[in-house]
Amino acid sequence: MAALGARPAPAQELRRQYAELHMGVAVRLVLYAPDDATARRAARAAYARMAQLEDVMSDYRPESEVRRLAVRAGADVPVSGDLFVVLARAVDLWRRSDGAFDPTVGPFVELWRAARRTGRMPPRAELDAAARRVGSDKVHLDSVARTVRLDAPGMRIDLGGIAKGYILDRALDALRAQGVTRALLEAGGDIVLGDAPPRRRGWRIALSEGDTILANCAVSTSGDTEQFVIIGGVRYSHVIDPHTGMGLTSRREATVVAPDGVTADGLATALTVLDDERGARLLRSFPQAAARVRRHSR
Ligand code: ADP
Ligand code: MG
Repeated sequence: MAALGARPAPAQELRRQYAELHMGVAVRLVLYAPDDATARRAARAAYARMAQLEDVMSDYRPESEVRRLAVRAGADVPVSGDLFVVLARAVDLWRRSDGAFDPTVGPFVELWRAARRTGRMPPRAELDAAARRVGSDKVHLDSVARTVRLDAPGMRIDLGGIAKGYILDRALDALRAQGVTRALLEAGGDIVLGDAPPRRRGWRIALSEGDTILANCAVSTSGDTEQFVIIGGVRYSHVIDPHTGMGLTSRREATVVAPDGVTADGLATALTVLDDERGARLLRSFPQAAARVRRHSR
């Protein structure tokens, strides 16, 4: 039977571009919409969803849900669906990466932020004290009650290595809910792609090995960013080896293509921490992801 009354989706032909500051970076949207009003409505919805998720996940906002969670050590704290999902993904990655990716690195991150300000190494005693508050074995997730319990007082969850990808995924959902499916979202080194532009196979994405054409997937690059500190001639990254508490000095850069942003972002960060062999093993546990890891010479 002919689908009486079923209208074809309106053509998404109009290209629009937007930029707004979120998660500390300019987040760029490129989208195709049937008309200008739809484009603007969709962009507004996407940015509003980002702002809402920043209130949940930002480590920089003392009032964010994730910061409030951290002051309630020992209690089973009910959390939002978004926070639960990201934490569950982060802890899963911790398990698969032999602890190289660890969302509880917050106490170390805090010490290294201070080091970037002062130009001085975090004191050994403080690193040792922080180490007692780090470790995803101290995170307990109950998916039925949707609660999170952190074992040790002073723990601090840092979703900086994975949240941007998740937030872009949800922003793409927000665009789709407004009828916009052809879109590119970009925040720093993280890119999430919806359907291709009209009459094209995909979006042209520049990678170190050349341009590729991609759609409905995500690309994240991690490592060797602007965020580092040089102390005594050694360059320490803002990404930390959770086993030692030290900022990375290995200068790895990882680019990951994965089905979604949360996977690409988290994997890219993990691959900058792991050595080649362990990185390859981690990648094998994500058959739908591909990665390129490079090492810069000092
Ligand atoms: P990059 O800046 O290299 O692109 P990301 O932005 O994805 O990497 O992740 C870096 C952030 O992840 C840090 O600023 C910090 O908040 C957090 N982080 C640092 N070390 C780790 C780690 N070992 N595991 C998980 N998250 C980390
Ligand atoms: Mg990352």
